[in-house]
Amino acid sequence: MLRVLADSDSLSRRAGDLEIRQMTSKVQKSEAEWREHLTPEQFEVARKKGTERAFTGQYWDNHAAGVYRCVCCGNELFSSTEKFDSGSGWPSYWQPIDPSAVNVEDDHSHFMTRTEVLCAKCDAHLGHVFDDGPAPTGLRYCINSASLTFDERS
Ligand SMILES: [Zn+2]
Repeated sequence: MLRVLADSDSLSRRAGDLEIRQMTSKVQKSEAEWREHLTPEQFEVARKKGTERAFTGQYWDNHAAGVYRCVCCGNELFSSTEKFDSGSGWPSYWQPIDPSAVNVEDDHSHFMTRTEVLCAKCDAHLGHVFDDGPAPTGLRYCINSASLTFDERS
């Protein structure tokens, strides 16, 4: 009887360990912790699903070679090789650096149906994806500069 209890106890402990490991693969912070790490604009856009005004962000007109990362967790999201001039005033890409780098979700806010783009690692709001982009994907990832940092690489 004692042995059975001991076994089930260790099993639940192992399951608990697994759960913890799965949780730690996502970056999770409290609102206060994010605020500490981000500027007010970055916080508003990335954590509160805001949108920066067109043509005001840091990267819509950036043509340097490099990698765009999540401002919240540093996850690599987009590459300059897949960036294009959409004329929208927001940095635009025809695909993410890796399909697993971002998640998408239906967004029904503001009386529209759009597809929201989120960082797969920390759920930061990045922007939206539309189907009016250039070949080869036909997609336009319309992303807020405030959700990004840029690593210049030649
Ligand atoms: Zn992130």
